[in-house]
Amino acid sequence: MTLQHVLGVFAHPDDETIMAGGTLACLASRGLTTHVASATRGEGGEAGQPPVVADRRDLGPAREAELRCALAALGVAGLTLLGYVDPDVGPEDTLGPFEADFETLVGQIAGLIRATRAGVVITHGPDGEYGHPAHKLTHRAVREAVTCHTPDVLLYSVMARPPENMPGHDDRLWNTSRPAHLVLDVTPWAEAKVAAMDCHVSQHALFKRRRNLQTVREALRATETFHREWPAVNGAPPDDDFAAILVAAGAVAVTGAQGPG
Ligand SMILES: [Zn+2]
Repeated sequence: MTLQHVLGVFAHPDDETIMAGGTLACLASRGLTTHVASATRGEGGEAGQPPVVADRRDLGPAREAELRCALAALGVAGLTLLGYVDPDVGPEDTLGPFEADFETLVGQIAGLIRATRAGVVITHGPDGEYGHPAHKLTHRAVREAVTCHTPDVLLYSVMARPPENMPGHDDRLWNTSRPAHLVLDVTPWAEAKVAAMDCHVSQHALFKRRRNLQTVREALRATETFHREWPAVNGAPPDDDFAAILVAAGAVAVTGAQGPG
């Protein structure tokens, strides 16, 4: 097994936990070195109920601290903040991307892939899960970085749509254009994932409100899924070091899931 370093690239603090927290904890428990990059500090998000800061201008640093707490809970070894600013949520909850020069963003990600010696990169799906423009932008930039600058590296997207016979298939966060190649039940790492969710205090009200739940723990997603974006696969489940590690950890490799398009 040559895969030793895994890089996750996400748009906002808490994306890493909600979408891949169990997997990150699993990889760390199996001796891999994990690193997370966040494009923004989630400055435009909710401040919490009650607010974690008195002044919204302090939300970025507060959410950075929440992210560091979560990464510690997940055993993630390193964090890189790419330095973009999350815009405030607009009228009627309109979400926007962060402002970035695309080629600069791509170059930052490619540099980070090399610096962390990542053999696999995981990131948002092309649909931005529930359509978030910042998630879509992050996906496009990571795809460009890998395919153009580090083509020997594997790229997987998170929140890929699992087969209909699997639990949780009706989640609103699935990227409907991406069938899952790997489906991991993260129950063995649930305590680490819940501990990481607990760290994101500013988002607790949102976690509960979105699905009408009473507790943060109930918001745990026990299924995490992946679609191999690069190199593309067709029909057969992916046969690579990342897939082998997840299958050894209990993941189901889905046969017959096609690549995009
Ligand atoms: Zn996000």
